[in-house]
Order: sequence, then C-alpha cells, then structure tokens
Amino acid sequence: MKMSRLYAPTLKEDPAEAELASHRLLLRAGMIRKQAAGLYSYLPLAWRSLRKIEAIVRDEMDAAGAQEMLMPILTDAELWRESGRWSAYGPELMRVTDRHDREFALGPTHEETVTDLITNELRSYKQLPVNLYQIQDKFRDEMRPRFGLMRGREFIMKDGYSFNATQESLQETYDAMKEAYANICERCGLRALPVVADSGQIGGDTSVEFMALADAGEAALVYCDACGFAADEEAATTQVPVTEGPGDGALEKVHTPGLGTIEAVAAFFGFPENGTRKSLALVAEDGTPVVCIVPGDHELNDCKAEHLFGAYHLMTDEELEGFGLHKGFIGPVNLPAGIRLVVDETLRGSTRWACGANEVDYHYTGACPGRDFEVDEWADLVTVKAGDPCPHCGRPLAGARGIEVSQVFQLGTKYSEAMGATFADENGVERPFLMGCYGVGVSRTLAAVVEQHNDEQGIVWPVSVAPYEVSVIALDKKGEAFDAAAHLADELAAAGVDVVFDDRAERPGVKFADNDLMGFPFQLIVGKRGLANGTVELKVRATGERSDLALDSAVEHVAGLVREQRR
Ligand code: ATP
Ligand code: MG
Repeated sequence: MKMSRLYAPTLKEDPAEAELASHRLLLRAGMIRKQAAGLYSYLPLAWRSLRKIEAIVRDEMDAAGAQEMLMPILTDAELWRESGRWSAYGPELMRVTDRHDREFALGPTHEETVTDLITNELRSYKQLPVNLYQIQDKFRDEMRPRFGLMRGREFIMKDGYSFNATQESLQETYDAMKEAYANICERCGLRALPVVADSGQIGGDTSVEFMALADAGEAALVYCDACGFAADEEAATTQVPVTEGPGDGALEKVHTPGLGTIEAVAAFFGFPENGTRKSLALVAEDGTPVVCIVPGDHELNDCKAEHLFGAYHLMTDEELEGFGLHKGFIGPVNLPAGIRLVVDETLRGSTRWACGANEVDYHYTGACPGRDFEVDEWADLVTVKAGDPCPHCGRPLAGARGIEVSQVFQLGTKYSEAMGATFADENGVERPFLMGCYGVGVSRTLAAVVEQHNDEQGIVWPVSVAPYEVSVIALDKKGEAFDAAAHLADELAAAGVDVVFDDRAERPGVKFADNDLMGFPFQLIVGKRGLANGTVELKVRATGERSDLALDSAVEHVAGLVREQRR
C-alpha cells in the first residue's frame, strides 16, 4: 500500500470532544470519523485492525469448538415479547416498524433470535452441546454514548451462545470460552483481568468479565497479584481488618468540640481512622430510617446498600433533625427510637468503638455492641479498597481501573424456559436447554488496545493488531533512494509482511510524525546517506530504538521480527 493513496485524513490538533487517549488518537490518526452520537465510520486503517482482531477471535472460537454463523440484525418483536424483554430492555432497545406495522428491534444481543432458531430443530441430547457465534454490528441506544468506540450506539460484537444438556456440560463450554477469551486478550496485546461478575450458588463463578486495565476505564477493580483474584469494587467482599478504638474498654463520653469528621476524630484520639466507626444515616425505600456503621476508613457501598434498602437516600439535614440525629456526631449508643441499626459484618468481633454519641460535640470511646447498644442487623456494607486483604490468600489487594472488553455468562434455562426451547434427554424426557452466552466487544477492544498502547507521539500498535506491521519511509521524493525504498516495500510484501510505503512528497519530519501517530510497529527509513554505506535504518516504534541494517538482509531481518511478534 502506498501512503500517498491511503485514505487516512490525519488531524494536527487534538479534537476537543475527545477525553480519552484512544478516542483522540483514533480520530487524529485518521482511523475513525463520527457520523452522529455513538455512530462511527471505520476508515481503512481501523478496518484493517478490526479485521485482525476478528481473525484472532475466530481462531480462538473455532479452536474451542464453536461454529461461526450469521443471524439477521433485525429481530422480531414477538421473540422479545416471549422472553419478556420487549419491555424489560427499555429505551436502550432500538425499535423499528415495517410497512405492515410489524415491530422489530435492531439486535443489541441475540439470545432470543438464536433460541428461536434452534427450537424444534435441535431436538436430542445426542446433538449437544452446540456452540454458535457470529460477528456483527449491534445496536444499543445508550443513554450516554461516549469515548469514541468505547461506548457506541452501533458497535461490533462477537456474540456466542451455547446449548448444553447438563450443568456439567455447560460448565465445560463456559470454561473453554473463558480460556479462549483470556487468549483473545493476550493475543490482542491487552493486559486484562478476568473479574468475577457474579458468583454461583455452588461457589464457582457463573459470569466473568474481562477487564482491560486502563486508568480511563469505567470500572473500579481490586485484584491480587499473588493469587490472581480480581473483582469489581462494587461486588467485592472480603474481611476488612479492624483495629479497636482508644480506651480500656469502659464506655466513656468524650468532649470533641467541632470534630465532626472521621479525620478530625482520629487525629484527636491519635488513632488510625480504621479505629473509629463511621455512621451514615439514610432513609430506605420503604421509609424506614436507618443508621449504617462501617470502619472509619471505609465507605458505605452504594450497590450493597441498594440490595439491602432498595432505592434509599442519605438523610438530608432536615431529615437528620427530624429523626433527632446530629450531623458528625451520629453513633449506635442512645440512638433515637425507631431507627434501625445495621452494622458491617467486619465489626462483629470488635468491642471498643470510637463513635459519635448522638449529642452535638460528643463522642464515645469503648462502646461495645451487645452491652451498650443492640445491633438490628449485621450485613456486608463496605466498598473493598486497595490494601484490604485478598479474600482468597490474604495478601493486600491492589486497586485498578478497567474497561470491560468481554464477558462470559451461564444463562441456565432463563431463555429456553421462557421460549419453550427443549430437547429430549436420554430417557426421552423433554427438558429446557441449559444455555451460556459469550460476548466480545470487537470495536471496544480496538479502543482498549489503543488506550493501553500509546505515547506522546501517538499510537504504539502491538504487531498482532497493527493495521500495517511495517512502514517503509522514503526520505527522498525520487531517485535511487526512493527506488530502493519502493523495492524494499515490495520485497517485504512478498515475504508476507503487511507493509505500507510512505512515498509521499512530504518533508521527513512530517513523515516521521505521521508514522509515529499511526503507530506502525517497525519503521524502515531509507535515505541517500545510509544507502551510500549499504544500510537502511530500523526504528522500533515501541522502544524508539534505532539501528542500521545492511540493505541486502533488511527484509529477512524485519520479516523475522514481525513473525516473532505476531501472536
Ligand atoms: P457495559 O456494561 O459496558 O454497558 P454490557 O455488560 O452491557 O457493557 P454485554 O452485553 O456484556 O455489555 O456485551 C458484550 C460486550 O460488548 C461487552 O463486554 C463490551 O465489550 C461490548 N459492548 C457493550 N456495549 C457496548 C457499547 N455501547 N459500545 C461498544 N461496545 C460495547
Ligand atoms: Mg457485560
């Protein structure tokens, strides 16, 4: 490919609307263009990378025994009504009506379609398991489409669905998919963690999300370097360590004038914040006033609180006053009547609490549950944070942010039951299929790769998904050096390398900047001066390393490097 012919309109300036590195660089390198909110065209460079990601996905899926197929993008409303999702999916489902007033949705995912497809045709346990997948545009009318390809309204997904006869078989397919997904991330050059999204009743996981680590990620994670445990901060549970408060264990009321924050109270007692108790007053969905207590250095977890209290809200100043509570001095002792006291599990064994005294400017030390106050309910309330012990091996957890690039899910019989999809088991008894679903965000993966692989100058593609593996840059506009560069590019192409030839009549500085921005992993720079010594220069984009290669072995050398780094 000649760069002079390549359709890749680069931008000199950073586009104002792009907050994320990936969004900014994909726009600047002339790889994507916005059509409307959440709708993007993939220009030739992006399309090449996307096809490479797809090839990796296909390779891993096929190796794991899945079969590729393609279903219509338009999905019949009747199927969505059968599963109950026509209404449950809400405004994210993009609905269309045909000329006969028949309703359809642009598929955001295809559980209904695929279940309908196999019903009455996949009949016997002998045919199972079956694992089908497709790579296709998906549509979701996201509330906030943003960050370029990260959260689009039309995006490319690999969606796969398995039909299994037994839980054992489902588990096997699920595990194979999990492994394939880890391989896909690895081969795309993504540092990703498998995060347990949902634990099963039997203890194992029934859903895992693969999170590409990136500061710009929407998900907050905790993970353990030692044993590989990882969880979404919202869902993580662990035994949070607690220190006892000050004092000898006797209940003592202490004058703490104006000390209405954990920080101030801890400093006053000369104790770690963990040795104090944080009290939060809220009103549950059903109107019950509640005081929650967590270790002073931890936060009440919104997600866990919602599980317990429904659509709750923290008390306003007026509500606090109305319930007889004092901001900054709330605590479990002498709690006004009618307020429910819910305490974090981790505090169960702790007997010397430093906490508010329900009186302005006073705290207690040595407050002891069971003796000085009664707890109405113990519950898991805290947001786990970096430094807390790993629930599996006890070593300190690290914190990170992640981008969800893919997810595997055991659906069980949710769709097969709702839609009457059954097979005959060994005894001829009709049973609903056990199903799994497996999704890879192909276009989001592209963005995640760029998010992880970039520097000041631009994108730094891993070889496996680079639009071109090598660029040959001619420093001269014509003559011997130009011809030598053209020849090198041809030879590289003949050796099976994806090569682009920068033949443009531009200054070397402009060429270097564009090649760095577009991020080709290897640059071969061909100029008169080097050729006089029989050499060309190789620049490795990732390291900036430069070296001179003998002209006659350059092709072999570079093709070798490329092959080594393809995955
Ligand atoms: P999110 O929580 O980010 O909205 P999701 O959990 O709803 O995603 P899934 O239904 O699991 O998404 O879809 C499978 C994969 O498709 C996701 O892991 C993600 O990589 C990708 N994906 C989902 N929504 C979008 C989107 N709006 N734009 C781009 N990719 C998406
Ligand atoms: Mg998901």
